[in-house]
Amino acid sequence: MDFINIKGLKIYGYHGVLKEEKDEGQEFLIDAKLCFDMTNVGLLDELDSTVDYSKVSETIKETFLEKKYDLIETVAEVVAREILVNYAIVEEVYITIHKPHAPIPIDFDDVSVNIKRKWNQVYLGVGSNLGDRNKYIQDAIDSLTKDKYIKDVKCSTLIETKPYGNVEQGDFLNGVIELWTLMNPKELLNKLHEIESSAKRTREIHWGPRTLDLDILFYEEIVMSTNELTIPHADIENRLFVLEPLCELNSSLVNPKNNKTVNEMLIELRAR
Ligand code: AMP
Repeated sequence: MDFINIKGLKIYGYHGVLKEEKDEGQEFLIDAKLCFDMTNVGLLDELDSTVDYSKVSETIKETFLEKKYDLIETVAEVVAREILVNYAIVEEVYITIHKPHAPIPIDFDDVSVNIKRKWNQVYLGVGSNLGDRNKYIQDAIDSLTKDKYIKDVKCSTLIETKPYGNVEQGDFLNGVIELWTLMNPKELLNKLHEIESSAKRTREIHWGPRTLDLDILFYEEIVMSTNELTIPHADIENRLFVLEPLCELNSSLVNPKNNKTVNEMLIELRAR
């Protein structure tokens, strides 16, 4: 991909674990590689069609100086996110923070952290079978949309579904949400839990049906399984109420676990 490279921005900052680093500060050097398609930009020859590297440098400086962090890893993370949030044209960003005066008791040239960040495409399953189901789902979409690290939130048509399993309860309203996020999977899960609990606060029956359920179905091509998080979500290929709305949003999306498209999984499930 095409890119603009900013190298060696010199900024005096106060990041570090040691007290004297936070009190006295030191000089840091920052590199930023801003990746985006420049085909049209090259033809237009207009500043508005590209990224103004001077403005990006100002953004880096402001973000860098906003707070004192212990770790340059954290500084790199907040700088990368700030660029992606504020410069929509940038598809991917590489940030390097050099700390040539780091407290290392041996003669050295430089120490740096290097990260690469981009917006990640995610699909969420959403369901509700208690109270004002449409409102719970709409409120969830609003909370996602308002988060600065989430963009382009799109929801499928919501469908009425009979409850899964044996518990006696009302019908569900189910759908799928597509979004782009800078959060990692665990961070996104925490966000979903926050949204779920603010919806559940108003529930009347303690162990009753759900006002709101949010699941991560897919997160880019990630395949992972921990105690807390399984991605892709278990059982996608057996659930019509997931595959149908997913198919409406992106029928050619490939499940990285079985390499089948959503459309293929839906056809197979309907044929069972
Ligand atoms: P639920 O019963 O759907 O509300 O989910 C309960 C728990 O499932 C959550 O607290 C998560 O820790 C766990 N979980 C595992 N994989 C996922 C996933 N892909 N999306 C959401 N929750 C998940």
